[in-house]
Amino acid sequence: MSADDSTSKTDFIRKIIAEDLASGKHDTIVTRFPPEPNGYLHLGHIKSICLNFGIAQENPGARCHLRMDDTNPAKEESRYVQSMIEDIRWLGFDWGENFFFASDYYEQLYQWAEELIEKGLAYVDEQSGEQIRATRGTLTEPGTPSPHRKRPASESLALFRRMKAGEFATGALVLRAKIDMASPNLNLRDPVLYRILHATHHRTGDTWCLYPLYDFAHPLSDAIEHITHSLCTLEFEDHRPLYDWFVEHCSTPARPRQIEFSKLNFTYTLLSKRRLLRLVEEGHVESWDDPRMPTISAVRRRGYPARAFHKLIEKVGVTKFAGTTDLALLEHAVREELNAIAPRAMAVLKPLKVTLTNWPADKVIEVHAPLNPEQPELGQRTIPFSRQLWIEQDDFLEEAPRKFFRLKPGGEVRLRGAYVIRCQEVVKDQSGQVLELKCTADLETLGKSPEGRKVKGVIHWVSTAQATPATVRLYDRLFTAEDPTAGETDFTEHLNPKSLEVLENCLLEPHLAQQAKPGQPWQFERLGYFCLDTQDSHPDALVFNRTLPLRDSWAKEKKKG
Ligand code: ATP
Ligand code: MG
Repeated sequence: MSADDSTSKTDFIRKIIAEDLASGKHDTIVTRFPPEPNGYLHLGHIKSICLNFGIAQENPGARCHLRMDDTNPAKEESRYVQSMIEDIRWLGFDWGENFFFASDYYEQLYQWAEELIEKGLAYVDEQSGEQIRATRGTLTEPGTPSPHRKRPASESLALFRRMKAGEFATGALVLRAKIDMASPNLNLRDPVLYRILHATHHRTGDTWCLYPLYDFAHPLSDAIEHITHSLCTLEFEDHRPLYDWFVEHCSTPARPRQIEFSKLNFTYTLLSKRRLLRLVEEGHVESWDDPRMPTISAVRRRGYPARAFHKLIEKVGVTKFAGTTDLALLEHAVREELNAIAPRAMAVLKPLKVTLTNWPADKVIEVHAPLNPEQPELGQRTIPFSRQLWIEQDDFLEEAPRKFFRLKPGGEVRLRGAYVIRCQEVVKDQSGQVLELKCTADLETLGKSPEGRKVKGVIHWVSTAQATPATVRLYDRLFTAEDPTAGETDFTEHLNPKSLEVLENCLLEPHLAQQAKPGQPWQFERLGYFCLDTQDSHPDALVFNRTLPLRDSWAKEKKKG
């Protein structure tokens, strides 16, 4: 399957690639998606995934590697690797045999570090991390060279080998590139290449106590894999001279070209694994894939379809302009997609009892409604109708304003797919709480308008005896602030206290209860899009997640101010 139907994308990166093919600079294109397995992939990563894997799909013979950039054993875990694999597959992409780890290259990277030392381009420094930072200089002032900068290569080499052999404590020594302490680009002021870290790596275990830094490992891993175009986000622009320096001075088999593009960001959303980890660790959400999280695993569980992301990414495009995408745009794409594919059903979330006093107690009939009006070829579903029904509490108002077209005392409303009913009596308990509505059905109105009367309102309902109870979780945006990280306040201050409402004893029409499968979308008529939870739902205790309500209530709130 192609993850995207379009073949006519023409952003600046695809233009460069087309030119490189046309000029014969490359005859095969190789890209890569290189996440660090220190958390779950988030919505921003989707842009990078779609770009790198998309380019590989569009160009015959091209390929895209999946590479775990695992150079920091303290933060990386195998379960993150696993989740990333599942997420990328869900987006519809495949890397075939081309699955790699930066840790596969530790030995080769180490050899290149020795090569740099031998060439007089790297030295072992004994200064502490703090001293190195303090002597780095500023944008206006050059850095101060380390007292060990002039150490003979042979001495650095001997020390470096002892570092590898585990003779020094964590943080005691580092290997630095010897570039230019006065460079206007701070990244070139003798960056650290290797540090000592006595930590167990998720793949190499305790084999190494010496770990390469990202800036060193990344370009060289690209080169090892013969990546032609190394696509990354704008914050790496200032690192490009360093990227090129490593590729130039180590005897690599290829020279990848780094090209930067702007990140994808959304309003009301936080995208940074470090911060998302805090939300999980501090218990603001239940897990990385809590359906409120902006991770790929979470939105999948919540019921967002992959195609909505493909469409959105295409709409947003690939440029160098940094910007924030309105979350409403994503939600719109999700609704548009779900409207087309989700079958309809009725569910009552907050039930109110209705008794039809003119309907026989033991009479049950079948009424019919389209499975999906967008796909008439799918036909109709069958819905039982009887004397005892549930309707939504919100669909009845005792003191209703004139424009309230749902049910009110003495008023009429249509039950979707069935009869027009009139509310004859409101039964209450001693405290005044409405317990039940006694209504009559107009028996002439099945599939027909009542003669001479206008009934504006249509409400959903389920027949009591055939209804299946379920738990329904209503999710809303996780943050109430457009930019949760703006200003002085900690982002956790902007968490939406109403991001989750759990409703027990919601009631489902039989077709829905029988047919729902974990992860598959449904439209609950008049309420929104829902899907059975892939983890917490059981055949005898159904749990639905609300993907989105039918309409964007946030836009209204915003207008109100
Ligand atoms: P985070 O701070 O969230 O962990 P990161 O950039 O450190 O982000 P990586 O795992 O290193 O995360 O990212 C893998 C790839 O995804 C990189 O090439 C990075 O440029 C890209 N990427 C990360 N965030 C975004 C984003 N918001 N939009 C587009 N691409 C992104
Ligand atoms: Mg990172």
